[in-house]
Amino acid sequence: MRIVVDTDLCQGHAVCQDEAPALFTVPKNGTVQIQRADPGGDLEAARAAVRYCPTRALSIVDDESADSQQS
Ligand code: SF4
Repeated sequence: MRIVVDTDLCQGHAVCQDEAPALFTVPKNGTVQIQRADPGGDLEAARAAVRYCPTRALSIVDDESADSQQS
């Protein structure tokens, strides 16, 4: 699992930081910075951040299933 951000969409609302402070930092007037791309034990918080991001800038990619689809 890996968190991906589309910085073109991010408007710095910081909802993600509220949902998963261990994973996201949003500087004042900036766009989100991912602290840890692999959500690990914070997967539920990461999912909430993806769900509530007002601009849908976040997504969670499952690398393993992406790999298996390619082969
Ligand atoms: S909630 Fe979405 S728009 Fe807001 S800072 Fe996080 S990624 Fe950016």
